[in-house]
Order: sequence, then structure tokens, then C-alpha cells
Amino acid sequence: MTRRYLMAGNWKMYKTVTEAVALARGIRAGLEANPPDLDVVLAPPFTALHAVGEVLRGSRIALGAQNMHWEREGAFTGEISPLMLRDLGCTYVILGHSERRQLFGATDEGASRKARAAMDHGLTPLICVGETLSERESNRTLEVVELQVAKVLRQLTPDEVAVSVVSYEPVWAIGTGHAATPLQAQQVQNFIRKQVALSHGDAAADALRILYGGSVKPDNIEALMEQGDIDGALVGGACLKADSFLKIVHYDAA
Ligand code: PEP
Repeated sequence: MTRRYLMAGNWKMYKTVTEAVALARGIRAGLEANPPDLDVVLAPPFTALHAVGEVLRGSRIALGAQNMHWEREGAFTGEISPLMLRDLGCTYVILGHSERRQLFGATDEGASRKARAAMDHGLTPLICVGETLSERESNRTLEVVELQVAKVLRQLTPDEVAVSVVSYEPVWAIGTGHAATPLQAQQVQNFIRKQVALSHGDAAADALRILYGGSVKPDNIEALMEQGDIDGALVGGACLKADSFLKIVHYDAA
């Protein structure tokens, strides 16, 4: 199975609408000048989704959100629903990001309900998993990641898992400048694929795209992409400038 690679930019809580439009325009121009043979997703903050969606209209760049609620509507002050994201043109949604888990109480159970809701509304879930530094140091990485993956994918069928995206993001690598080594990432990502084969079957595991996230930069992406179970990257800091994100997308340029 050849999986189509995916590069996704998580803009986190950065960029006013004006700044977001400028960044999206820069990325669109760079990708149209030199079209990559992979998928690209931009996930700006909620406030810029509409404006960025307008910039991306008619391009091959997909729009993603950074979180959502699982209900389609209701009395949930401050929340955004899958229906609303579809209405804005989103086709991807990031779920279970470690910043949501660590700072805002997000859980595997919540991510599981959201993954189900994403599928029900035609959104591709981009599900983040990963261990903390203390979990790695106590040799619990695989155990922690196994549980996260099992819980979050629990409500999805094999066919749905096949079109989902998982991003392995060791918490100690996010925003620290200390990326996992290609071998560290490959070891965990290969393990994730094997676990998914056990839970959802070989075909789903084979088709599932597994990204790496955590201090991905233009100078480390190529070595990461050489690994067999790394199908792309979820990029935080390095996606906030068009030139560095474009270098990551074009990692294989001669
Ligand atoms: C992220 O937020 O998903 C991420 C990987 O951030 P950074 O690239 O800044 O480490």
C-alpha cells in the first residue's frame, strides 16, 4: 500500500485574521508555483477559518480546525460543532492535541466521541497521541500510546480508520526544539500501525496515515520522512511562516 503523504500546519492561537490571510496567501502561492505530490492541510484558529477558507477556495489545500465539540448543536457555550466546521469548508479536524489534554482537560474518551462525530459529518479526524517526558523516562511510551490509540479509535470501523489520520506527537518534543529522532518516531509509529492491525485489521492499518509531530523543521523533515511508518508531519512553530512551511512541504526538493 502506498499511502499519500500529508503535511498539516497547526497554527495554534496565532494570527489575527489579517495575518492569517497573508500567511495562507503565501502558502497557496508557493504551492501553486511548485505543486507537491502530497496533501496539505492548514489549521488556523477558529476566528480565521472563514477568511482562510476564502483564500484556499479552488486550491488543493484543505482547511482544518484545531478542535470541536461532538454534538452538532446545543447549549454548549464557547464550543464549535462539526456542522459549523463543515459549513466553513473544513474537511479535517485535529483531535486530542496534547495542549488540549494538558491544559484544558481533554481526554481520550472525548477524542473518541469527537472522532465518531467527525466521521458522521464528513470530517477527517487527525488524532494526536504521545507520551510525556516522565512516561518516556519510565519506559512507558508504548503502553501509553497503545492505550490512547485504542481508546480514541474505538468507535470507528475499519473503513473509517483507513481514511483517518493519527499523529504521533511526543509531548516532550512539542515546541521544545528537541524533535524525536527518526528512529524513535519510527519505532512508536510502527508499533501504532501494528496495534491498529490487531484492532481494526491489516487493510485499515496499512491505509492509515500516521504523521509525526514535535519540533519538525525544514532541516529535520527529510530524515523523518525516510522512515517507513512516517507518512507526513503535523507542524506547529515552523508552519507560522510561509517559507519554512513550504520548505517542509517540499522536503524532497533537489
Ligand atoms: C504541534 O503543536 O502539533 C506541534 C508539533 O508543535 P511544534 O511543531 O511547534 O513542536
